[in-house]
Amino acid sequence: MQRRLAQMLHHRSAGLEKGDPVALPLTTSTSYHLPEVQGAPYIYARNGTPTWAAVEAQLSLLEDAEVVTFPSGMGAISAALFATLRAGERVILPSDGYYVTRVLSEGFLAPMGVDVVQIKTLDYATADFTGAAVVYLETPSNPGLDVVDIAAVCARAHAAGAMVIVDNTTMTPLMQRPLDLGADLVVAADTKAPAGHSDALFGHVAGRDAARMTRVRDWRRLSGSVPGSMEAWLVHRGLETLEVRLERMCATAGVIAARLAEHPAVLRLRYPGLPDDPSFALSKQQMQGFGFLIGMTLKDATVAEDFLARCPYLVRSTSFGGTHSAGERRARWGDAVPEGFIRLSVGVEPVEALWGAMAAALD
Ligand SMILES: *Cc1c(COP(=O)(O)O)cnc(C)c1O
Repeated sequence: MQRRLAQMLHHRSAGLEKGDPVALPLTTSTSYHLPEVQGAPYIYARNGTPTWAAVEAQLSLLEDAEVVTFPSGMGAISAALFATLRAGERVILPSDGYYVTRVLSEGFLAPMGVDVVQIKTLDYATADFTGAAVVYLETPSNPGLDVVDIAAVCARAHAAGAMVIVDNTTMTPLMQRPLDLGADLVVAADTKAPAGHSDALFGHVAGRDAARMTRVRDWRRLSGSVPGSMEAWLVHRGLETLEVRLERMCATAGVIAARLAEHPAVLRLRYPGLPDDPSFALSKQQMQGFGFLIGMTLKDATVAEDFLARCPYLVRSTSFGGTHSAGERRARWGDAVPEGFIRLSVGVEPVEALWGAMAAALD
């Protein structure tokens, strides 16, 4: 991974000519000089742009796979599902995963004749995948932070004749490598930690099967689900500091989680990196970090909202993975969690400043 990260930072260096800009130029052109069609690297911006190519080169190095980028995480998830599933086929989805994926599937795939089956993330460990065309997995689950064995699920899904798509948003390719564990496609919201500054929606699909990736690429060009140049440029910039941000965010999350777990106001604390967490053993085995998300349950909705309102270093917003720590009571979206459950996304604030503010708000 270290070599891949260094290559990512220097992916343009070898191609620079004397006087070229070192930072990636932002190319907004929709049309490209095309005296003849053959041999042109760029034709029209719905097919591809130099700015997408640059961010896809970075993500490709990180994923060690072909990458197609999309204007959001949901754009990537839609592409993976719509480019794969046909009428009459079955997809298995996590009932406790990212809720928009479920709403999309029930609202659009099911009416087109896809059999949408939802099971709990932890049940992937034992579920019978017979008859499924696609097993779609999210681990750690969002927001519950339950973890399943990706390699074991892939082996059982493949034996049943199904392909596996993994939503790797919470971990990023730096901390979890589903393709190496047997997954057929990875989908991710780069809106979160990769872009990292809460200012760009973006997503990608990664895979190592050329035919499958061609279909994903065709979906983008034909459906018109194309990323904007500015967003691609922002994500390119964000990816350059992803590793250093994650290092800080995950280290801080580990410290904060351990202290929250000891706090009398906290009824339940989930963080995959705590040795007594149900996700710890598997996380240690299949992840290269424990992430920056913490699940914390306070007494009830009022106590949870008061805590968020009193803590000056937690922005009250949905989404995660930004530089600012954030907190949100997930029951407000209808997630199957207690009313007092808060998903914390730890940012890059110095740890003692953040903890001091959180402890004061809890006391
Ligand atoms: C945010 C998120 C998405 C969707 O990403 P958008 O960029 O908001 O479309 C998908 N999966 C997970 C796990 C997410 O957290």
